[in-house]
Amino acid sequence: MSLSLPPQTHEHLGHTDPDCLFCKIVAGKIPSKVVYQDDEIFVFHDIHPWAPVHFLMIPKVHIPSLAHVGDEHVGLLGRMMVLASKLALQEGCNPYPEGGFRLLSNTGSEGGQEVHHLHIHVMGGPRPWLKG
Ligand code: 5GP
Ligand code: ZN
Repeated sequence: MSLSLPPQTHEHLGHTDPDCLFCKIVAGKIPSKVVYQDDEIFVFHDIHPWAPVHFLMIPKVHIPSLAHVGDEHVGLLGRMMVLASKLALQEGCNPYPEGGFRLLSNTGSEGGQEVHHLHIHVMGGPRPWLKG
């Protein structure tokens, strides 16, 4: 059973795209292994992890990519950055400086983006990793 909130609980915060994979995951229409969620942020494990710890942080609203953010998103993005560090430790990344983690936001085709709903990869854990 999904731990996600139903779609009507976040639609008041902004746009969702019924055809978007990650909007469907936020809505619980596609199951995911949920790490964390609040009113505006949803975090779940990547289905094909590159590293021992690999989760994705997304806004619940449909923002296609980091190329689409504006001043109105500064608070949201700041909260995602602060949360990344906390969740990395919670999910098993070792502490800085021997441990640590990597953030990545592929943006656009040349940036390697495959799912067009803004997401931040958080990867960590002991080396070697599948990629990187
Ligand atoms: P991108 O290449 O767009 O930066 O990353 C998209 C990520 O989403 C990939 O790492 C991929 O493994 C992950 N992904 C794609 N489909 C699903 C899915 O249905 N569930 C989960 N949990 N992750 C997915
Ligand atoms: Zn979306």
